[in-house]
Amino acid sequence: TSTEAGWNLDNSYARLPKAFFTSIKPAPVHSPKLIVFNESLASSLGFDAQALKSEEGVEVFAGNQLPEGSHPLAQAYAGHQFGHFTMLGDGRAILLGEQITPEGDRFDIQLKGSGRTPYSRGGDGRATLGPMLREHIISEAMHALGIATTRSLAVVITGEGVLRETELPGAILTRVASSHIRVGTFQYVAKWGSEEELRSLADYTLQRHFPDADTSGNPYLVLLQEVMKRQAVLIAKWQLVGFIHGVMNTDNMALCGETIDYGPCAFMDTYDPETVFSSIDRQGRYAYSNQPYIAAWNLARLAETLLPLLDNDKEEAIKIAEKELSNFTELYRCNWINGMRAKLGIFNEEQQDEDLIEELFTMMQKYRADFTNTFRALTFDTLEDTSLHGYDDFDQWYKRWQERLERQQETKETSRELMQKSNPAVIPRNHRVEEALDAAVEKGDYSLMERLLEVLSKPFAHSPEQGADYFAQPSQSKQPYRTFCGT
Ligand code: AMP
Ligand code: MG
Ligand code: MG
Repeated sequence: TSTEAGWNLDNSYARLPKAFFTSIKPAPVHSPKLIVFNESLASSLGFDAQALKSEEGVEVFAGNQLPEGSHPLAQAYAGHQFGHFTMLGDGRAILLGEQITPEGDRFDIQLKGSGRTPYSRGGDGRATLGPMLREHIISEAMHALGIATTRSLAVVITGEGVLRETELPGAILTRVASSHIRVGTFQYVAKWGSEEELRSLADYTLQRHFPDADTSGNPYLVLLQEVMKRQAVLIAKWQLVGFIHGVMNTDNMALCGETIDYGPCAFMDTYDPETVFSSIDRQGRYAYSNQPYIAAWNLARLAETLLPLLDNDKEEAIKIAEKELSNFTELYRCNWINGMRAKLGIFNEEQQDEDLIEELFTMMQKYRADFTNTFRALTFDTLEDTSLHGYDDFDQWYKRWQERLERQQETKETSRELMQKSNPAVIPRNHRVEEALDAAVEKGDYSLMERLLEVLSKPFAHSPEQGADYFAQPSQSKQPYRTFCGT
């Protein structure tokens, strides 16, 4: 039974104003089969893994049966997609409820690919196996890298075909998130709801995600500040590992600060700030180097929704919001610089650090260096393996960097330890992800994916036994890499 499986659901979102969601059950599927199950996540959520993996447990992941205490719903939201405002909502996702863990933490449990909803527009409400496995792999890699992210508890195949360009195997991913409240959720309520409804969403978000924040002053300004802080941390971490989200629409930015919506995302191999993987991002709006600016733009859209709550006087509210938003650049920069110092083994702060860092990136771009492998080579002093090797300007930079390390108290050994913790050896290389997905989807062979997941779960383990064959760049013929929106 679902009590044995450890389901412990609350439904606080369902107690919000009715306009925020539509109560709706997942659409049943024909013959579900469990493909991926995340044991460690299951236990940390207070589930009994064996019971969840049983035939009855899988019926829940398939949407054929509701767990005890579930109030299933599709959330309403809007959003700016590539800059254009539109009504959206969960078109193929159903929130089953919020699992309360043994520690008392609260996580949304959501089925993705579970059938049509009133927000489906032209879509079929379904998802296919490849993209759901891709979300599983990359979100697990992000988690292991220490980057806040939604997680994936399970992937099932539905036993039904889904029509795309060809017929593909249908799948459902069970997504776990601190919440699915998006910038777009606020945009939806601000545009079509009452001020009272907007306040209830803001109060709910404050209580759910920032219960310890001091809200004795202007609570809604505090909300904006806290969301900005989390985004500054998040985007800096993306930049520090070369992660490109690919579709940073306002509906894909979560207020809890977790990376959400793994569609066309990818990690870059060769360093190039202009890198775009997504086939539909023709203008490069969501290019690597643009991500911090897009985050700021999205936060401005959030701030706009909060204006009626920030002050009764509109002019005053705008002033408050603008003043706050102007802090984002510096907030982001601080997180990024500190992260970069760690990547270079630097403990204290010097004015010239920023130049040192920028010059490294200039050379990485000039000599087409691999992002991840450059920092690994700096960590282990194996620079002869990089494309930077043998250039005078790089040698000079290297000398300056060594001198910089000598000007701090910490030993070289301590520096190296910091670098090892800050520079992953393995990232989900695109060619490795594709190879694993091909084997899984085309041949039903999940062994490559299992091995990849294992290697990605210890990204800072640098020993070759850990997966030296996973360090390498793709061959030239595998570039340039293109991604498509997760379907
Ligand atoms: P995304 O680009 O993943 O952020 O999705 C944008 C919007 O399209 C969201 O409202 C999704 O729920 C919706 N959507 C994506 N795929 C489907 C689908 N197959 N059926 C219905 N709605 C979908
Ligand atoms: Mg989305
Ligand atoms: Mg998506």
